[in-house]
Formats: sequence, C-alpha cells, structure tokens
Amino acid sequence: MNKLFYFVPFAGLLYSLRWSWWYKNLSGLNVLVYHKIGYPPKGTKLKELWVTPERFEKHISWLTKKGYKLIGFSELADYYKNNKPVDDVVLVTFDDGYENNYKYAYPILKKYNAKGNIFVVYNTIGKVNVWHNPKTEVWINMATKEMLIEMDKSGVMEFGSHTMNHPRLANIDIEDAKWEIFESKKQLENLFQKEIIAFAYPYGNGAYEPEIRKLVLEAGYLFDFSFKQGKTSWPWEREKKTLDRLFIKYSDSCFDLNLHIKKGVSKIF
Ligand SMILES: [Zn+2]
Repeated sequence: MNKLFYFVPFAGLLYSLRWSWWYKNLSGLNVLVYHKIGYPPKGTKLKELWVTPERFEKHISWLTKKGYKLIGFSELADYYKNNKPVDDVVLVTFDDGYENNYKYAYPILKKYNAKGNIFVVYNTIGKVNVWHNPKTEVWINMATKEMLIEMDKSGVMEFGSHTMNHPRLANIDIEDAKWEIFESKKQLENLFQKEIIAFAYPYGNGAYEPEIRKLVLEAGYLFDFSFKQGKTSWPWEREKKTLDRLFIKYSDSCFDLNLHIKKGVSKIF
C-alpha cells in the first residue's frame, strides 16, 4: 500500500495535537497580554509581539459577541474585594505603552464599548523603546503624555506601571529595583491624578522572586502581573502569588483566543 495512506492521517493527527483543544477546561481569571498593535516592520525578530489592527478587531468583536465583559483594573478591584466570580470577565492588557496602542487599539476598544489597560514604562513616555536592542527590534514611538491623558479621560483605557526603565528587576541592585517600583507609581499618580493599583514585571522578571514581589506589594499595588502563560485560579490568594497572563501572538486567530481562555494556552509547540 502507498505510504501516503498512513502518512496523511498521521500528519493530520500531529497537526491537530499542536493545539490544546484536548486539554481540560480551566476556570479562573483571563488576562490577555498584547504588546504592539500594528504591522511588523521589516527586520523585526520579535514578530510575535505584533498583532495587526484587523486581527485585534476580530479578537475584540469575538470576545464581546461571546458575552465576555472587557474590564479595567478599577473594576477588577471590585471583583477582588467583593469576591465576585470572574469567568465571564476578560482583562485586555498591553505592555510597554506604544503609540500604536493609541492609534489602533484605543479606537477599536471604544467602538466595541470595551476597556483596555496599558502598562507604561514611565521614562520612555513620548520617546522610543530604548530597552530593546535596535538590531533585533526596531525602535518605534511610545505614546506621549497627551495621548495617555486623553485615553485615561475617555474611560476606555486604564493604566498601570511597568517600571521607570524596563529593567530585569531581579538582576539589578535591590535598591534600584525598589526605586523602579516605587518611583513609577508616584510619577504615574502625578500624571493621572489617581491611584495606580496595577504593576507588570518587565519580561516577567522578579514576579516569582519573593524579595522583589514583596517590594511591589509594599509599594501599594493591589495587582501584580507576571509574564507566565496561564490563568490564575479565583478567588485569588494575593499574598501567595502573582497573576498570570495569556500571551496573544501575531499568529493567534479567534480559535487560538478561545483556547487561551478555555485551556490557558493555545498552541503547545
Ligand atoms: Zn515590557
């Protein structure tokens, strides 16, 4: 018999096992993490950090059609304090604070009456992503203060801290790490004239280092977000662990999005 007879179903099976559809369903908090909404420039080695505006709109449209409530940090605080279930809730977060979040994500979220949340690197506001090596990831504009304030006033976006300079917190002097965590909260509160209750560890670094996490909680952030793939079981035991997130990549369709939310991951390899 033709070898192809065996090969085709085998390849088909392998291909379908690439996705997590056969994992068990998980309950818990859904926090999506996006970075750049736009078109990956030539030469980028980090294409998976980009999601096109067309695809982003499909994701938001799909989520709202499925009945998920897309909420901000302040509403999540209400869920946390009152122990409300979160299975129909999705937090859309963006790391770093790029200008393209303002240009593309903000109007799309507004159109669907949805909310988003941006983690800002304070010292790069109105500048570029200087923490990246421009040989592997081109420098692009970060949102300006005016853009951030407009998004805040609109009620569409809420803001959290992603430190002052985007360092690997566990790899720098502890006093410097403390400053990055405390100073960014102070500066952002000054900018927005409201309390900043959320923090995301750059590269997820420090999220599971007790010494670093202690500083984040001491600074007064209610929520701290890692870069570890997954959902966090709810009610959340805040003293014990940081909140995990679902990393949405360039190649993620609505099928992937569904798997992220149901299974805590989409593609396995
Ligand atoms: Zn970052």
